[in-house]
Formats: sequence, C-alpha cells, structure tokens
Amino acid sequence: MSDRIYRPSFVNVDLDAINENFKAVGRLHPNKTVIAVVKANGYGLGSVQIATHLYNQGAEFFAVATLDEAIELRMHGIKAKILVLGIIEPKDIHKASQHRLALTVPGLTWLEEALRLLDEDDKPFWVHLKVDTGMGRIGMRDKQEYQQVVDLVQAHDKTIFEGVYTHFSCADEENDSASVAYSKFIDIVHSNEMPPYIHCQNSAAALRFDASACTAIRLGISLYGYYPSEYIRSISKLKLKPAMQLVSTVNFVKDIQAGDTISYGATYTAEHEETVATFPLGYADGLNRKLQGYKINLAGTDAEIIGRICMDQFIARVPKGTPVGTQAIIIDHHTDSKQSIEQVAAQLGTISYEVLTSLSRRLPKFYN
Ligand code: PLP
Repeated sequence: MSDRIYRPSFVNVDLDAINENFKAVGRLHPNKTVIAVVKANGYGLGSVQIATHLYNQGAEFFAVATLDEAIELRMHGIKAKILVLGIIEPKDIHKASQHRLALTVPGLTWLEEALRLLDEDDKPFWVHLKVDTGMGRIGMRDKQEYQQVVDLVQAHDKTIFEGVYTHFSCADEENDSASVAYSKFIDIVHSNEMPPYIHCQNSAAALRFDASACTAIRLGISLYGYYPSEYIRSISKLKLKPAMQLVSTVNFVKDIQAGDTISYGATYTAEHEETVATFPLGYADGLNRKLQGYKINLAGTDAEIIGRICMDQFIARVPKGTPVGTQAIIIDHHTDSKQSIEQVAAQLGTISYEVLTSLSRRLPKFYN
C-alpha cells in the first residue's frame, strides 16, 4: 500500500479502548496473566499495531494462530512471549526455535516428529500441551497420552514445559458445558509437574467464571470490545468498549428516475425519482454482499444500501442534495448504535468475529 490514502474508506481503531478492555477483563482475574490473542491480523484490526501498543503498556504474552503471524510480530520488535495456537509443521521447528516461540503440542506423534527434526544447534523452545476437552479440534484426549508427552518434554533438553491448555467449545452458551470441560481439563492435567501457565479461558469463559486452578486467560474478542455472544453480554458485569469503526465517503451522486436500475443483476429498480450515492467500499474490503438493504449512517440519517454490493463500491439511497465528500459510518463503535457490529452480524446470520476478520488488508487503518 502506498504511504498516502487515495481512497476515502477506512477503519478507525481505538488502541486505548483495546488497552482498557485488556485491563478491565484482566481485573476480573487479578492473579492471572492475560494472553492477548492477536491472530488473524489482530481480528482484522492490525496485529502489529495492537501488539505493539499493548506491549508498550506492559502486556507480557501474545497468542497467534500461525508461525507466520508469530514471526511477523517478532520482526516488528515484539519481544514478549508468543504462543502459536495452531499446529506448526514439524519441519519448521528450526524457525520456531530461532524466533524463541512457544509452540502448541497437539499430541505425541507431533512432538516425536518435531524432536526428531531438531538440529544440534537449535535453541530450546517452549511448549504448551493442548488438551481436547470437547472441542474435537486438536489436542490430547486422554491421561495416558498426556503423561507420555509430559515425560518426553521433561526428558528432552530442548523443550521447556511452559504451559498446558484447553479451548472450550460452548463457553458462550447458556449451559454449563464449559464448567464440565474445565473439570475434565483439570482432571487430565493435574499432577506433580504443573507448568507455570495453565489456561483454559477464552473471552466468554473469562467473563463468566473464575477457573481458579488456572494462571492465565486468553482474550480475543473481548480485547476488541465485543462480547462473544448475546448471552455473555447479558450476564457480564463489564462494559466493554468497541474499538472499531468502518467509515466510507460519498464519491459520486446522481438523481435517478422511476424504472432506473442499480448495480449488477439490476436487482434494484427505482419506483420514483430519488438520489443515490456511490461509495468506494465493496466486498473485497469486507463488506459482505448480503448487506444489500442494510442502512448505513450518513451524517446522522439512515441510508439504505440498494442494489448488489460490488467488489470495490456500493450504492445507497441518500437525501436529495447530499454532496460528494459526505462521510458515512458503515459499522459504528457504539454498542447501542443501529450500525453496531452486532447488527451487521445479525443481518448476515453470523458472529462479530467473522465481520471483524473479514475487513480486508486493503482498507487503511487509522490508530488513535
Ligand atoms: N484460544 C484459542 C485456542 C482460540 O482459538 C481463540 C479464538 O478463536 C481464543 C483463545 C480467543 O477466543 P475469544 O476471541 O473468544 O476470546
């Protein structure tokens, strides 16, 4: 991207809000380390900028999904601990050790293979053993395999037993599935050899229960100011601060007549004379095509998106006389706004996570 912005569609990211959310959820767990989850480019908002800001404010631990994401943070001067939550390919173990990363051990076979491929001069690396308590994605499911992995980690001079963790499948739902999974987790990992970081809580679990045997929490969506679900919002004592606003600007206006059609497939036909405006924002920026009919906030008035959303542009019905250059809020950072991320997610039949992470890298981001 060039160093200037030549297209007036952008994302505002409130780094102070992210830091406040980090601290606010952290205060619910005063004796635990907050692991800031900045995978998927910081949930679409910029992992480097967010991690740098939190790191400068004292955050000690980050988590990402992939080795590439971890290396990107290291390349940008993040010296804090970084845990890769996904499985790295054993052949890439040298890269992980070179960058001083903490790796997820999903099972015995992976560990044996990674250790087999280690070179003499590879540095030791940190491991967090992953336990599957019901998610069914990655991790060890029984005590026996878990113990074999612990033994291997303890016996090997290049592995540092730093953590053990699990991830809940239903922590955001109105049932006690996460508590059941928590008990299962503790049952599997409980032994004389406990590592310093024991973690199971994502945002939902951190907002709803204590998990006192744990020493860390992993916060993703709540850092960015959003609740994992309506249920969690309804029971949460905290008021999180949404950190993202998506803005675009009218760059073309015209009056159309009854019978005129708009955009691909001519799915919209004007019934009478009206004014329409074109905005330089489209589905390649993360504005889902299913948002046809959604109302943006055009300088205080609702303006409906009409016709199909194109790759780089969309069209909305606007008040007569709307000038080129008028800004519109597409997604607002106020929870009670008609343009809140929850409204967008509801219209799309999805979750805020997907709306956020769909924001494309092409969109310029401004950080406060
Ligand atoms: N831990 C793991 C293993 C994850 O996969 C995720 C997100 O998907 C998180 C923590 C953060 O979850 P949340 O964004 O719900 O806080």
